[in-house]
Amino acid sequence: MSSTKYIFVTGGVTSSLGKGIVSASLATLLQSRGYSVTIQKLDPYINIDPGTLNPYEHGECFVTDDGAETDLDLGHYERFLNRPTSQANNVTTGRIYQSVIDKERRGDFLGKTVQVIPHITDEIKNRIQILGKTGEFEIVITEIGGTVGDIEALPYIETVRQLKWELGDDCLVIHLTLVPFLAATGELKTKPTQHSVKSLQESGVQPDLLVCRSEHSLGEDIKRKLALFCNVKKEAVIESLDAETIYAVPILMRNQKLDEVVLKRLSLPIDDNLDLVNWRDFLYKLKYPKTSVNIGLVGKYIELHDSYKSIVESFIHAGASNECKVNIKWIHSENLNEESAEKNFRDLDGVLVAPGFGERGFDGKLETIKFARENNIPFLGICLGMQAAVIEFARNVLGWSDANSMEMDKETSHPVISLMAEQKKVEDMGGTMRLGACDCTLKEGSLIHSVYKRNAISERHRHRYEFNNEYLEKFEEAGLKASGINPDLGLVEIVELENHPWFVGVQFHPEYKSTVANPHPLFVKFIEAAIRYSQS
Ligand code: GLN
Repeated sequence: MSSTKYIFVTGGVTSSLGKGIVSASLATLLQSRGYSVTIQKLDPYINIDPGTLNPYEHGECFVTDDGAETDLDLGHYERFLNRPTSQANNVTTGRIYQSVIDKERRGDFLGKTVQVIPHITDEIKNRIQILGKTGEFEIVITEIGGTVGDIEALPYIETVRQLKWELGDDCLVIHLTLVPFLAATGELKTKPTQHSVKSLQESGVQPDLLVCRSEHSLGEDIKRKLALFCNVKKEAVIESLDAETIYAVPILMRNQKLDEVVLKRLSLPIDDNLDLVNWRDFLYKLKYPKTSVNIGLVGKYIELHDSYKSIVESFIHAGASNECKVNIKWIHSENLNEESAEKNFRDLDGVLVAPGFGERGFDGKLETIKFARENNIPFLGICLGMQAAVIEFARNVLGWSDANSMEMDKETSHPVISLMAEQKKVEDMGGTMRLGACDCTLKEGSLIHSVYKRNAISERHRHRYEFNNEYLEKFEEAGLKASGINPDLGLVEIVELENHPWFVGVQFHPEYKSTVANPHPLFVKFIEAAIRYSQS
C-alpha cells in the first residue's frame, strides 16, 4: 500500500440524513474485504467537545478509551467496526481554533497575520491526516458534520477542496442528499440534490459519488438524470432507502456495490473475499427473535431517545445474541413516585436506571430501584444509576433516611456517594471528570465474575462522584457487596445485591463498549436474567 486513502462524506439538502450510518456502513464493507479502516467526525460547532453539552442538544456524549468526550456518531463507528476510536477521531471547530490561537500566542507564526486560509484550513488538514499518518489505516473516512452551505461548514469544505487537489486519486468525496417524494404528484424530485451539488461545486468540490436518501427506489431514470446533472457516473448514484434497522444499511449499500464503486475509484484491488457471514447472522437473529422481554429504561432525558443511544444499541446487540426482542419501555424518572411505580413496572422483566447528572428526577430513580429490589426484578444501574442504588439501600435498608450523594446534598449526614479526592480542586467543567478506560478487579464467586468470566476488566468512566469507602463495611454486612474494585485507587466500581436474582450497579459505562461483533456481557446476561424472570 503506497499511501492512505481519504474518503470525505458531506451532506446536503437537510440534516439528519444519516451520514454517520452511511460512513459506518461503507467502512464495514471495506473492513469486511480486509482493509483497515477508521472513521473520523469533524463537528462545525465552537464547543471544544460535546462533554459540556446538554443531551437535549445533540444526544448522548460518547466516551472513548483515551477519555475523549465525543459525538455520538463515534459510538456507531465502534459498534459497526468493532474497533476503538480515540480523541483523534472527533474534532470540533472549537478545538481547531484553540490550537491555532495557542500557536499564535506562542509566536509560532513568526509575526504573520493569522487567517482562516491557510492557518485554520492547515490545522483541519493536519487533524484529518493525523489518523492516516499513524500507519494503522489504509483508508480514513472523514464525515463532515452539518450541511453544505452552512456558514460554519465553509472552512471544512475548503479543506476538502485543497486535499482533493493535493491527494488526487488518493481521495474521494461522497455527497449524501435527500430525494424527496411528492405524494400529491406521486413523483421523486431530484432538484434539491442538483442544487446541493451545485453549492458544493461553487466551493470547488466535485463529488465522486452521490448517496441519495429516499423513501422510494430511485429507478434507472432518476439515477441517469442525477448522474447527468451532477457530473457523476450512473453507477456512482447510490440509493439509500429507509431501513428497518441501521444494521441493515451495510447490506443495502452492498447490494448497490457502493464498496466496489469506491474501491475502483481509489484504484484499490477488489477481490471476492467479502466476509459478511457474522453480520448477516446477527441481522437474522435480530429479525427472527424466539422470545421477547420488556425492559424499563428510567432516566430524565427520555424525551430524546438519542440521549441514551449506546444503551439502546447495547440492548439490540444483547437481544440478538439471546435471540430475544428487547422492547424498551421509556420511563421518565420525573413522573415516578411510590404509587406510579407499581403501575409502571407491572409488566416489566427488567429495569435499567440510566446515567445522569443533577437532582431532577432523582427521587423517581430511587423509587424504581426500591421496587426492583423488593420485587426481585432484574436491575442494572449505570453510573448515576449505580450511585442511586447505593443511596436507596442506605436509606431503606440501613435506615439512614438522609443518605445521599454530595452531588445532590452537600450537607447530608451520610454522604454515601462523595466527591473523589482528585475532583475536589477541579474548577473547570469541561473535560475534567474521571474519563476513559480504568481497570477493575472482579471478586471471584461474585455474580459479576460469572458475567465477565474474568478476574480483571477495563471499562470506560465519566463521573465526578464515587462510592464512599468509609461506609463499605456497613453495606457489605447488610448485603450490598462491592464486587469490583479499581486496583490503583481502591474505588468501588461495582455493587451487587445478595439474595436477589440479578441486581448489579456499575460505576462505569458498559454501553460504550458493546458492538455487533462483541455484544457486552453485562447486557447479554442482564437480558438473559430478564428472560428467566419473564418465564418464571
Ligand atoms: N453525576 C454523577 C457523577 O458525576 C454520575 C455521572 C454519570 O452518570 N455519568 O458522578
